[in-house]
Amino acid sequence: MSRGGKLKQIIQSMHFRVLIVLLLIGLVPVFLMKTGILNGFENQTVSMRAAMIRSQCSRLSADIIDAGYLSDGSSDVVDKELNQIAELYSGRVILVNSRFEIIRDTYLLDVGKTIIARELIECFQGKDTDYYNAENDFIEVVCPVREEPTKTVVGAFIISLPTTDIIVARRNLSRNVLILEAILIVLIIGASIYSSRLLVRPFGKVTAMMNSGGTDLLSDDISMPEYTETKLLSEAYNQMRHRLQAQEESRQMFVSNVSHELKTPMTSMKVLSDSLIQQAEFGEVPNELYREFMVDIGEEIDRENKIITDLLELVKMDRNSPDIHIEDTNINELIGLILKRLRPIAAKRGIEIALESYKPIIAQVDQTKFTLAVSNLVENGIKYNKDNGWVHISLNVDSTYFFVKVQDSGIGIPAADQEQIFERFYRVDKSHSREIGGTGLGLAITRQAVLMHHGAIRVYSREGEGTTFTVRIPLRYEEQE
Ligand code: ADP
Repeated sequence: MSRGGKLKQIIQSMHFRVLIVLLLIGLVPVFLMKTGILNGFENQTVSMRAAMIRSQCSRLSADIIDAGYLSDGSSDVVDKELNQIAELYSGRVILVNSRFEIIRDTYLLDVGKTIIARELIECFQGKDTDYYNAENDFIEVVCPVREEPTKTVVGAFIISLPTTDIIVARRNLSRNVLILEAILIVLIIGASIYSSRLLVRPFGKVTAMMNSGGTDLLSDDISMPEYTETKLLSEAYNQMRHRLQAQEESRQMFVSNVSHELKTPMTSMKVLSDSLIQQAEFGEVPNELYREFMVDIGEEIDRENKIITDLLELVKMDRNSPDIHIEDTNINELIGLILKRLRPIAAKRGIEIALESYKPIIAQVDQTKFTLAVSNLVENGIKYNKDNGWVHISLNVDSTYFFVKVQDSGIGIPAADQEQIFERFYRVDKSHSREIGGTGLGLAITRQAVLMHHGAIRVYSREGEGTTFTVRIPLRYEEQE
């Protein structure tokens, strides 16, 4: 197989697809996990820091109010505390009064200036705001100075601090998470390869079993109950093999029957000709004897001919797509013609042939094959009849089917044989059938012809009383898959 073909085979395999699904299920969460952990850590740390600052500011609020710091900006204690917070976070603390004037700036840069910012206005409106600028690595927290007990916002802290330490911690954490991620990826790939193999193994086993027992029709049934699918697969395979076995047996039987049947007339001819030659050695053979033997040989040739003709007929109908020439046919007329041909044969033994038809029937049939099917039934009715007996043929029709019934007053068929009479070369009484020129193929041909028309044939018989064959054929021939 070419490399491209092999690759295609791998991609199309169930093993590969299961592996991909398992990898996706395992790896996607791992990749998401890394981002989740790192972002979670960063957000958590930032909000914790902001909360801490807020609580410190709210504690400081009381001191600021007590010292009247917002009006004159003079309190060493408050100054110290503000510086402490600034130092603690290595940041900048700005204190603003209600007129947005900067009272205190730990960087001492903007004291006395007015500052107006959205966050500040929101803070005076009673909202807590903080802002994290991840790109420039700093946090800005704005929190109110409240007057007790009215809780009126009379000033605000603006604290900005760098987040370098958070970034460093995030980087360290990222390294650890990466190691964890690598370990997990290796584990997941390993587990996925192992599980996908394990999951599809029963299919491989069932294929191996089929391959090993494939050519040997007599090998044991295979069984793979691991999954419902493999169970159904092995059952279907077993059934198919049983069918093949049955077909093979019937083929072998057919071949041995054919050779036997074809050999019998040959043997008779050989015996007849040998005995003529032998007799000639002992002197003149009378002309009459020559004639008699030649007539016998002629009969054997006819028999051989009939077997071959019948066999060819069967083989033609046996093919997967046999030739079939469907025509709209007047069935009453066609059967009338068949009976006209057979009446003289029946008359020789005083057998009466009667046709009963209730309605005119036009149906789609292959005239040659349908004629063959009905002729065989009527011929059998004559052949296996008593002298001066009768054969009644009746025709009937409904909206979908027409029916042909061939009933005779003949010798009947034992119940035990009724199932087999449609098999090739099956004869209830071999020597009797041979005597009257039967090949054992007539009913097999009839059945095949009926099946080709998608019809059905049944037999009802009682030994010694007579036999009835019923044939049902659809009026419209429909191609079937
Ligand atoms: P054959 O050429 O021997 O008649 P068929 O296939 O037509 O072969 O019939 C098979 C066997 O079924 C016959 O040998 C005969 O024993 C039995 N059979 C068929 N039709 C009848 C019938 N109408 N009455 C009694 N036996 C029949």
